[in-house]
Amino acid sequence: MPAKKQAQAGGSKKAEQKKKEKIIEDKTFGLKNKKGAKQQKFIKAVTHQVKFGQQNPRQVAQSEAEKKLKKDDKKKELQELNELFKPVVAAQKISKGADPKSVVCAFFKQGQCTKGDKCKFSHDLTLERKCEK
Ligand SMILES: [Zn+2]
Repeated sequence: MPAKKQAQAGGSKKAEQKKKEKIIEDKTFGLKNKKGAKQQKFIKAVTHQVKFGQQNPRQVAQSEAEKKLKKDDKKKELQELNELFKPVVAAQKISKGADPKSVVCAFFKQGQCTKGDKCKFSHDLTLERKCEK
């Protein structure tokens, strides 16, 4: 059976090569036309990585873990930011004595108001247009 296995490996070598080139193409898509040294370096790194793989599997695992951690961090950060900005929208301000019904609901404008008819703000978008005039 080893002979057959070898033949198979030899036959798929070209396909493998093509696959790798496709991966490189995908990873560097849109970067090749850029002249920045950073992009060129990135392309080189990706090309090397795909073609030869990284020498140290442990290092790969580590960098993958780091990448994931960073991604999670970013997600968390974004979530925190969202939490921070949410109250600003939630507390829609109206000038004192003004009728809330004369103010178009900020959520409704974004299509996010869940209060419907019970909302104290107006859901009449034509109102705003009238005010702008
Ligand atoms: Zn509303």
